Amino acid sequence: MFFERLSATVRSLRFRLALWNVAAGLVTGLGILLAVREGVRHILIRDLDEVLREDLNEIELHFSGQGDYDWPALCEELNRKARGHDFHGWFVQFYHRDGSPAWSSAKAPELPPPDAAQQAAGTYHLDHYRLAYHKLSREIDEASAVCVGCNERFITRDMASIDRLVSLVAGAVIVVVTLGGFLLAGRTTSILSNLIHRTENLRPSELKERLPIRGTGDELDALARTVNGLLDRLSDYLQQKHDFLADAAHELRTPLAAIRSSVEVALNSERSGDEYRELLDGVIEQCLALQKLVNQLLLLSETDADRLQISTAPVALDELVARAAEMFQGVAEFEGIELRAAALPHVAVPGNAHHLRQVLNNLLDNAIKFTAARYPRASSAPSAKGQAGGRIEISLVRDDAQREARLEIRDNGLGISEADLPRVFDRFYRTDRARPREGGPAGTGLGLSICQAIVAAHHGTLAAESRQGEGTVFVVRLPLAEGATHPAPAG
Ligand code: ADP
Repeated sequence: MFFERLSATVRSLRFRLALWNVAAGLVTGLGILLAVREGVRHILIRDLDEVLREDLNEIELHFSGQGDYDWPALCEELNRKARGHDFHGWFVQFYHRDGSPAWSSAKAPELPPPDAAQQAAGTYHLDHYRLAYHKLSREIDEASAVCVGCNERFITRDMASIDRLVSLVAGAVIVVVTLGGFLLAGRTTSILSNLIHRTENLRPSELKERLPIRGTGDELDALARTVNGLLDRLSDYLQQKHDFLADAAHELRTPLAAIRSSVEVALNSERSGDEYRELLDGVIEQCLALQKLVNQLLLLSETDADRLQISTAPVALDELVARAAEMFQGVAEFEGIELRAAALPHVAVPGNAHHLRQVLNNLLDNAIKFTAARYPRASSAPSAKGQAGGRIEISLVRDDAQREARLEIRDNGLGISEADLPRVFDRFYRTDRARPREGGPAGTGLGLSICQAIVAAHHGTLAAESRQGEGTVFVVRLPLAEGATHPAPAG
């Protein structure tokens, strides 16, 4: 138990962040302190060298010029100074030309004469002593060079004081950096823990809650914003699903209620054979409406789950369009609408002929429905072609530059208002004017959303342009089949 908690703590982000903070703080802090210590030591030695060089200059002054010099008095003065600077261990040593010692002041230690490198350097370190060497400018009998030196003990003592100070400051740095690092890591991870805690409490049914944004603009705020964005999209999606389910149930209820009342009417009292037949025809009609709705719902659920089987085999779109136009010709004529298909070029698109046919049928069915609503036929008898003024034009273009097929179905029917246009692809959306034409079945409001889902599954797009009272054009764009020069028959 203890070891489990320990290992969880060690693996926690807070611990690792704190460790990194402490390590970085320590390396930086101690680095700075050591640099300061070495800097101070360097300055102390440089100053000492300066003082020793001044002492040499002072000695040199006794021999400047060609006049007399008082050697015994000089030695006496140097001895006095050496005794007076006992603490610094100050001393003087004269050397002959051959390097052998000539005269040593009081307190002078037994040191070997300087070698060539030390003489060239001028100042040097030897055996706890700092020394400065100078070759006299004038040859005298008693000596030809002089060394002034002093004990480095006082520098060592100063450095020991600095070391104590450095250790003290280093200790304080370690404590502050450790505590600071731990607190800082705690602050950061507590925000994360809060986010985790809040996210854990979110339920699909309770997606209203959002993570708090602190307004600092940092990565944690960005994370909270991203999660909130995801929650927005999720709750929109769930709301759509909920609405879809409610709409579907509502749509299923209407034909079911009609079937039930037809059956109840049939059972209520004894009826003639013709009456029963009429009631049963009504039941069949409602069953067909139910069947259509259920098929549409199944298709939508397949497209939602990305399970629509879209083959990559090329389909001759021009043949599909020609057959659909032919199929709707009779209804169009009956409604007094002129249905024309311009010369159709050979176009092959990869996909599923059955689903593409569904798209064409739905678009043409709508075009006829909403054109007939604008130009109602004068009588129930079929009118002459184009007499009523309704017109539907189908055109198909193969755009080799864009590698796409463009199919347009243009009508001069009711048109769609600006407010309705963006919503016509929504599931179950029907405009107020989308009333069933005389005797025809009411639309489900699913047709265009199914068309859009099918076209999207074929990696294409479906768009609508419309003006109320002027007509509508639906444009389907589909990618061309790769190198398919001889498309398979549409089947
Ligand atoms: P429905 O099955 O009700 O026709 P759709 O999804 O096919 O459902 O169409 C949705 C709505 O878009 C229709 O109710 C209608 O208002 C509008 N619409 C579709 N096609 C046309 C068209 N060619 N002209 C005018 N309005 C149209």
